[in-house]
Amino acid sequence: MHELSLCEGVLQVLEENARKQGYQRVKTVWLEIGALSGVEVEAMRFGFDVVTKGTLAEGARLEVLELPGEAWCMQCSITVAAKQRFDACPECGSYQLQVTAGEEMKIKELEVE
Ligand SMILES: [Zn+2]
Repeated sequence: MHELSLCEGVLQVLEENARKQGYQRVKTVWLEIGALSGVEVEAMRFGFDVVTKGTLAEGARLEVLELPGEAWCMQCSITVAAKQRFDACPECGSYQLQVTAGEEMKIKELEVE
């Protein structure tokens, strides 16, 4: 389950930030997850609870903000909505799409004390 290693990555960022900014506890994490990132939100929630046990983020709330996917269609020369990777262009049916948004996963905001 690669979500588990993603959660470990998130925890690492939280711990690094805690050293830099001097907070003791993380209460809420707002995580942006792109629709095309391949990350499963439920697996992320489960993994987050597992990896944060006994850390500064134990019991923290995980708020997930799902970002819509976007792709550039080379045929139409426009940006179209992409619900999944390797979808065809909804306008012309072409598969010559370049994903431009929705592949990322990042921490947007933290509530700490
Ligand atoms: Zn198109």
